[in-house]
Amino acid sequence: MKVLDTELLVIGGGVAGAYAALTARTYGADVVLACKTPLLGGSTRWAQGGVAAPTGPGDEAAHAADTLTAGRGLCEPATVAAFVSEARAHVETLRELGVAFAPEPTLEGGHRRPRVRHTGDATGLAISTALARALETAGGAGLRLLPGHFARTLRLDGSEVVGADFLGPEGPVRVRAGGVLLATGGFGRLYPVTTAPPEGTGDGLALAYRAGAALRDLEFVQFHPTAVVQGGAAHLVTEAARGEGGVLRNAHGERFMTRHDPQLELAPRDVVARAIAAEIAATGRVDLDLRHLGAAFVEARFPTISQTLAGLGLDLGRDLIPVQPAVHYTMGGVLTDARGRTTLRGLYAAGEVASSGLHGANRLASNSLSEGLVFGARAAREALAASRGLRPDGEAAPAPGADPADLPGLRQRVAGAAGLRRCAGSLEAALAAPRLRVVPGETRATLEAANLDLLATLLLRGALRREESRGGHARLDFPHEAAQALHSVQTAGEGLTDEAVQPGRAMLSFSA
Ligand SMILES: Cc1cc2nc3c(=O)[nH]c(=O)nc-3n(C[C@H](O)[C@H](O)[C@H](O)COP(=O)(O)OP(=O)(O)OC[C@H]3O[C@@H](n4cnc5c(N)ncnc54)[C@H](O)[C@@H]3O)c2cc1C
Repeated sequence: MKVLDTELLVIGGGVAGAYAALTARTYGADVVLACKTPLLGGSTRWAQGGVAAPTGPGDEAAHAADTLTAGRGLCEPATVAAFVSEARAHVETLRELGVAFAPEPTLEGGHRRPRVRHTGDATGLAISTALARALETAGGAGLRLLPGHFARTLRLDGSEVVGADFLGPEGPVRVRAGGVLLATGGFGRLYPVTTAPPEGTGDGLALAYRAGAALRDLEFVQFHPTAVVQGGAAHLVTEAARGEGGVLRNAHGERFMTRHDPQLELAPRDVVARAIAAEIAATGRVDLDLRHLGAAFVEARFPTISQTLAGLGLDLGRDLIPVQPAVHYTMGGVLTDARGRTTLRGLYAAGEVASSGLHGANRLASNSLSEGLVFGARAAREALAASRGLRPDGEAAPAPGADPADLPGLRQRVAGAAGLRRCAGSLEAALAAPRLRVVPGETRATLEAANLDLLATLLLRGALRREESRGGHARLDFPHEAAQALHSVQTAGEGLTDEAVQPGRAMLSFSA
């Protein structure tokens, strides 16, 4: 087996991992960055709308307040405070790295002011490209990039994480590291209809859980309100389309959001997604209407989406666009503090894989790219500060394989029981259903299937236990928010526990 030694191992090459690796290099650290895809893989490159950050110091309190409102009582104040005070500087760094943001920020759902920087409707690709270029040029000899390397297990010395084992293109690879930073993205692929790319299988959460780290709030799943679904694929129409004035109409042509929320089409995503689902159930369809904005403006503002929809026979500027909610973002993840530390020594997490406390029960639009920047940088700095140098080889946490052929059934079960609306009966039935068959042979496909199987159980368990409706979790049998907002925390061998939000002093200066 090939063995590499490094100060910091970053697993994942999306915005969080790439930015973490670049940050670590500015401190002169030796870094290995490994990802199962090419460098531009992951959700980051597909992001359309943009990256949210306060427009100036005077906007920090308002951005924090909007984030807290969307998070429905489950944001961690210290995390939100760090985020709003640091996000803007990192967005400026992206500009310096060559991301050509439009001069004016735009408005998206749940934001009371325009603060989303964009480069048209392919902002993620611009960011990924700039970060990949920076890694390749500025990385130098202290940065080794390992695309196409699938992390199959973390290695432990006692309860300390000391490295990871990979399936590499030319065979197994072991990386021994002073610190390991997970930046492996979310688990939208647990659902059949999702905007997440195929690699969004939650591997990092499963790796961390098997190694003994705590996971938090897995039951909070964000459905994007407006996806165009054809042939099983969900094509996103960015929230910015509603930010620019797009309206939603039911089959009768009625602008129904007037009945659902005072913020109309720009209400938080869970509100808009449930309103759309209800209108589809009641009237048969919901359309996004951009026709009044003018075809020329729409095509110039949303060229990528216009092109994608043209391939589906739809004209974004001239047609009513049939939309429906699709799974888009997973709020839960590996429990971290505001410095990216997990509950395991030596293990850090940032980006969508983490439950940093930024999003609470519902992510505010475009807060996740900036989350990757802020907490990727913070976690890298923390890992380097805490690194105790190389540890012994350690033991591999178990990595079972499961039959990928069973995945469509699993996905249907999860979507049926833990979709936009949930209830005890269907959650219990889905939990009682057989798990995926264990199969011999470790391949990327069998390992991903086992990871999704584990996450299905943990998500269903969390959703059953949470007897209330809050943010991205709505129970038909418990339609109201509980008086106290509690996190759900799951750790292997310890089951599921409830944990209060840490009030902290950091937010005292913010008024909601
Ligand atoms: C269609 C779409 C549009 C979006 N639009 C926006 C937007 O406008 N604004 C916004 O803020 N957010 C948006 N989001 C969400 C945002 O893109 C993601 O939350 C964010 O990019 C996640 O970044 P990340 O670095 O955490 O993970 P990702 O970008 O998903 O990267 C994950 C990385 O981990 C690697 N990886 C995963 N598993 C393994 C493994 N086992 N071994 C090795 N490597 C592994 C992958 O190869 C990849 O490199 C959108 C998401 C989607 C799907």
